[in-house]
Amino acid sequence: MTQKNLVLNIGGGNKEDQVLFLSPDSKEFEAQSYEETKQRIKNYSAGKGVVEIIGGNPTENSRIYEIIELAKDSGHIVSINTDCRKFSDMEKARDFVDKGMKMVSTELHGTRDIHNDIVGEDFFEDIIKGIENLVELGVDVKVSTIFHVKNVDNFEDLAEKLVDIGVSEWVLEGLVPKEFGVERYKEVGVPHHMVFEILRDLSKFFDDFEVVKIVNFPECVKPFDEEKLIKISYFESVEYFGSATDEEPFKNEFCNSCEFSDNCRGFIKSNLEIFGEENIEKLWEKRKTN
Ligand code: SF4
Repeated sequence: MTQKNLVLNIGGGNKEDQVLFLSPDSKEFEAQSYEETKQRIKNYSAGKGVVEIIGGNPTENSRIYEIIELAKDSGHIVSINTDCRKFSDMEKARDFVDKGMKMVSTELHGTRDIHNDIVGEDFFEDIIKGIENLVELGVDVKVSTIFHVKNVDNFEDLAEKLVDIGVSEWVLEGLVPKEFGVERYKEVGVPHHMVFEILRDLSKFFDDFEVVKIVNFPECVKPFDEEKLIKISYFESVEYFGSATDEEPFKNEFCNSCEFSDNCRGFIKSNLEIFGEENIEKLWEKRKTN
């Protein structure tokens, strides 16, 4: 089962002392001083899950070691969301681990050329080195990859790389057409029948990870008998990632006869509008022949 995290969104620059608390069991709270942050972390009862530290670049916050130590000493498991480049320096990686960082989450769009092309910077090798150092130090590393038209042919190469460097969790995410993402979804979204085929081809790697999650898709993109693949639909993902769609679920004629229908809320409307009903028809044709 997915853990529910307390997320600390920490500021940078002049806003370093402002920390936004996003807790699964209370309203948002913004601490305005380090004292307030300390109090709040101490009062958050331990054993509920992971304290995940996010923000523009949380490893650059001047209080990051203090925050990690504070969360660890209060009984929490500490995770940081970062691009991992900082950890390409083994000594720096060790400093974070010594303070109590146990998990790291990061994002990779593909192998070197694809990732660098999408982020527009030559960061891939440093990220990989950072992940390797963390794995050597016993840190659990989670990598997220978003499906889009630029990386759909690269998933197998990326899977091989992630297995090779010892990544423990791989999260395969669909885009959510929400707010600024609506236009982007039209340009780079991937139809569900392609997602199904990619997942089917990738399934040979799944046992090499401790956890594989597929997020923001309906049940029918998941290949048969893929017990290892944990699915979190667009309508559930807000609890875990804060990324659920605002769209109403939509079911069509395929849903009426679908074996997953009782546990599935359906497609999002944008998907049908962009890719048409043929997308779903193709998906079910492929399911029948695989
Ligand atoms: S109910 Fe519809 S959306 Fe859900 S799994 Fe079945 S066909 Fe897919």
